[in-house]
Amino acid sequence: MAADIVLLGPPGSGKGTQAARLTATYGIPQIATGDMLRAAVEAGTSLGRQVKAYLDRGELVPDRLVVDIIRHRLAEPDTHRGFILDGFPRTVPQAEALDTLLAELQRPLDAVLYLQVDRQSLLDRLSHRAEIDQRSDDRPEIIAHRIDVFLDQTAPLIDYYRRQGKLKLIDGERPPEQVAAAIDQVIRSLG
Ligand code: AMP
Repeated sequence: MAADIVLLGPPGSGKGTQAARLTATYGIPQIATGDMLRAAVEAGTSLGRQVKAYLDRGELVPDRLVVDIIRHRLAEPDTHRGFILDGFPRTVPQAEALDTLLAELQRPLDAVLYLQVDRQSLLDRLSHRAEIDQRSDDRPEIIAHRIDVFLDQTAPLIDYYRRQGKLKLIDGERPPEQVAAAIDQVIRSLG
């Protein structure tokens, strides 16, 4: 089974949970730019120092930085059977850069799965997550801002991928195992 997939959805929509499960089921890597950026901040690398303030404020880091990360990551051999992009792309220029990159690699995206969850559920989930993790951006005022950033900068990707005929809508309000079943159905239909 090979599949090149983007998981699209607002913060708290369950992308990370579903991406990790897809990795376990299909043996293709999860590529989560948020995790990679947090790791860079933790490690105190030059990239980490450049992006820390953006993460803390719940702002998107500049496109060129994340596009570079993705370009290098997609050159790794473990992606040859597919990948699950989790948290990338987040802007139209990032999506365009990804299309260019994948065209060079002659491997267009198979599908973009959009996890639909309403704002109140996102706020409830993220404030619950704030109680268990130590993420500096899971504070209440930053959570609300990250949702606004999604609506403003990332939501236009829904139409971008709909026009490409790649968009698959998934009801993300349901329990994780039901969301997982809906995703599996879509992936099987890709043949
Ligand atoms: P996430 O873990 O996906 O919620 O991402 C956490 C934070 O990392 C975001 O609020 C942004 O500051 C940054 N980030 C992650 N992915 C991207 C991206 N594709 N473009 C810009 N910033 C990103």
